[in-house]
Amino acid sequence: MTYIAIKDLSLTYQTKTKSVHALSHIDLDIEEGEFVSLIGPSGCGKSTLLSTIGALLEPTSGSVTIAGQTVQEVRKQRKIGNVFQEARLLPWRTVGANIAYLSELAGQRPRQSEIQEIADFVGIGAFLNSYPHELSGGMRQRVSLCRAMILDPMVLLMDEPFGALDAITREKMQVELLRIWEETKKTIVFVTHAIDEAAYLSDRIVVMSARPGRIQADYVNPLVRPRE
Ligand code: ADP
Ligand code: ADP
Repeated sequence: MTYIAIKDLSLTYQTKTKSVHALSHIDLDIEEGEFVSLIGPSGCGKSTLLSTIGALLEPTSGSVTIAGQTVQEVRKQRKIGNVFQEARLLPWRTVGANIAYLSELAGQRPRQSEIQEIADFVGIGAFLNSYPHELSGGMRQRVSLCRAMILDPMVLLMDEPFGALDAITREKMQVELLRIWEETKKTIVFVTHAIDEAAYLSDRIVVMSARPGRIQADYVNPLVRPRE
């Protein structure tokens, strides 16, 4: 059954000198619990599409709904988890306080036990009192993932989350993300330009092409590893 429904979505950026047609008439249905990768060359509109799914950008036309609600409503309830290429942590707050931050903005202060539980789950339970600058890039991305997961998001939107990590750390994080996905069954939309990463992680691979951004192909991943 369709969970995320993207209908006839177009987005044109207006700059002082030109209009950039970043997305053109995109239709895409995503099911609950699916792990979908969006791939394609640089500039084909992957980030724009992901940002529109998360209501960080307003489309020029078309709509996105999640479980029948507009994505703007879902975002207002802070039920969208975002993970970006940079962790975007607040440097003056501890890891624990960073994890709590978005919930606090939503007027809920998570219990310490809740923060501990999610941090343990994502492998940073021992670092709650550390500051972001004391952590490696991989660890900072785990904090960013915890900050998103503590919201119990309806969808996890990840924009090249491992793109800035070294190869070994990236591989560790991919294994970790798969475990988290298998245990939580979250719906994940994952942007990457690395086909091997998409093939390793996702059930489904949506290929975009540029100028203007369209969906060129939509595959059930034939390489998907056996899942127990
Ligand atoms: P991708 O994530 O696949 O690299 P983007 O979604 O970032 O692609 O960009 C799609 C197109 O929109 C590109 O041509 C890019 O240059 C353009 N673009 C992205 N952001 C803006 C912006 N804020 N203003 C104008 N053009 C933009
Ligand atoms: P704004 O509404 O001005 O974009 P917010 O106060 O909502 O910022 O959020 C503060 C910071 O948290 C920003 O860096 C933003 O990118 C990030 N953020 C906002 N919402 C989410 C979310 N659902 N998941 C992860 N990070 C988020």
